[in-house]
Amino acid sequence: MVLCPECDTNLDLQEDEVDEGEVISCPECGTDFEVVTTSPLELKAMEEGYVEEEEEEEAEDGDYS
Ligand SMILES: [Zn+2]
Repeated sequence: MVLCPECDTNLDLQEDEVDEGEVISCPECGTDFEVVTTSPLELKAMEEGYVEEEEEEEAEDGDYS
């Protein structure tokens, strides 16, 4: 039994039903997870479009001349 790391929903995955690198979506919270390893089955949240880029604004603030 594999639980969603985000909302603890039972994702109902079997180790032999998924491949490493496969992306699983939680039906409950919609989070996408990549299968890191299959034995033991380990998931990693993708967090697409959720990347923090706070330090980018300072880059092009200088003088262009
Ligand atoms: Zn979930």
